[in-house]
Amino acid sequence: MNNILVTGGSGLVGKYLCEIMSEANFVTSKDFDLTKENEVEALFNKYKPKIVIHLAAKVAGIQTNIAFPTEYLEENILMNTFMLKYAHLNNVERFIGMISTCAYPDKVDHYPMEETDLLNGPPSVTNLSYSYAKRIMAIQIENYNKQYGKNWNYLIPCNLYGEYDEFDEFKSHMVSALIKKIYDADDSINLLGSGKPFRQFMYAKDLARIIKIIIDKDIYYSLNVSPPENFTISDIAKIGIKACDKEYLKINWDSSKPDGQFRKDVTSKKLMNVLPDFTFTSLEDGIRRTYAYYKQNLAGENK
Ligand code: NDP
Repeated sequence: MNNILVTGGSGLVGKYLCEIMSEANFVTSKDFDLTKENEVEALFNKYKPKIVIHLAAKVAGIQTNIAFPTEYLEENILMNTFMLKYAHLNNVERFIGMISTCAYPDKVDHYPMEETDLLNGPPSVTNLSYSYAKRIMAIQIENYNKQYGKNWNYLIPCNLYGEYDEFDEFKSHMVSALIKKIYDADDSINLLGSGKPFRQFMYAKDLARIIKIIIDKDIYYSLNVSPPENFTISDIAKIGIKACDKEYLKINWDSSKPDGQFRKDVTSKKLMNVLPDFTFTSLEDGIRRTYAYYKQNLAGENK
């Protein structure tokens, strides 16, 4: 385990992974800025890893992606390029990259999407920079495999949420923002968009468990990772309200705000073929746990 290096150790997924792989080495941007080549070189010199789990990325919701497209493209491409280059130069045996279902095409002629659909059309304009940076990392990993005989892979997770997420509306993802709104509400909550698009959400601890299992079981496929359910955002809000025991809350939709991609559901059929016994946490249970944590630990800080 001390041959394992995890970037993005202070993030949502990194913190769950640290709970179940505590002997691995976890780093954050405070330790090494991965957009700087000399710092990535120093990172590999320090840890000499055999396995790299590259979670670090500049990640955020629709609003920040629209406001800062230049930084989203440049920083993500730099981080991924330097991480892969130094993993290659240091003979890293396993490299696991994190893509995102945002990187899939905005529209395809069949759903749910399979891994082979990744490049079959342009991604949604709402997060073009982040999506293209993720697509490029997928291509980079395939290139190293083909050209240098590596056996590296990537996972393509759907949207995540969990105790370690950001709950501030500008920084957070949909489910975590929803949890804060439900906590703060007296009689109603205001949600952005129409509520009609579909989304798959995964409790981030499930992704951490899958990362550990694929390492333990020597699984080298590149895989979608998502629970099968594809809920409308309106359904997710209702499930959230129920999980937080606030079923009396009314929902107001602000349809003047962008909806983002209409649907981007993927199938985890390939994953379930290799891990048939894996069970995902239900959305209601994951929200219940996250809400309890938020109430107990964070509610005061996020006022
Ligand atoms: P977070 O936003 O929670 O964490 C991002 C991590 O990246 C932090 O540890 C941050 O360090 C680190 N980081 C950012 N910039 C740099 C930098 N310049 N140098 C070094 N480290 C940096 O991410 P998540 O845990 O949510 O996501 C993990 C991975 O999964 C990412 O690759 C993401 O794209 C992908 N993913 C996430 C989804 C989601 O809904 N969250 C959905 C699908 C995929 P610091 O705290 O020091 O800034």
